[in-house]
Amino acid sequence: MGSKTNQNKPKSTFKTCNPNELACKVPAHFIFTNLHHKDALMNPSQPTTCPCGSHAAYSQCCGLLHTGAKAKNAEQLMRSRYSAYVLEMQPYLLATWHESSRPSSIFDAPTSTQKTHWLGLTIKNAYPSSTQPATQSHVEFIARYKIGGGGAQRLHEVSRFMLEENQWFYVDGEFPA
Ligand SMILES: [Zn+2]
Repeated sequence: MGSKTNQNKPKSTFKTCNPNELACKVPAHFIFTNLHHKDALMNPSQPTTCPCGSHAAYSQCCGLLHTGAKAKNAEQLMRSRYSAYVLEMQPYLLATWHESSRPSSIFDAPTSTQKTHWLGLTIKNAYPSSTQPATQSHVEFIARYKIGGGGAQRLHEVSRFMLEENQWFYVDGEFPA
């Protein structure tokens, strides 16, 4: 996320506000609350509400994982990886991808017609449940997205995750019929 952050160095949350951005879709009090948060001051281009759909503040949800906290379970990692796709955080996506299946890069050279716009995430199921100890876990989800100016599409996937040295990794996924 380094190069993107460096290109965008807005001085205030309000100047960067654009009707297409998440920050504009939340009540003003949210923005004021977050202005007192150290991370929001340091990086006002961060979203205010978390893209993963938790309704929590980004800085208290996937933002914690994106800045080094470990996922407590596979579902939390799944959510943080969805948010990382939204925010195009390739280093995080690669770091949380198991080395046995990790690609060399994730995002193709973006062009205006090919860019993927993520619209929302719904977690359908996670098993075994997050309260049961496990070294392998599955998370079924539906992610909605658009490519360029195309219509909304659904990605229905059951992702497989593995716990290694106390850290969850995405391994691979299957696509239920
Ligand atoms: Zn989140």
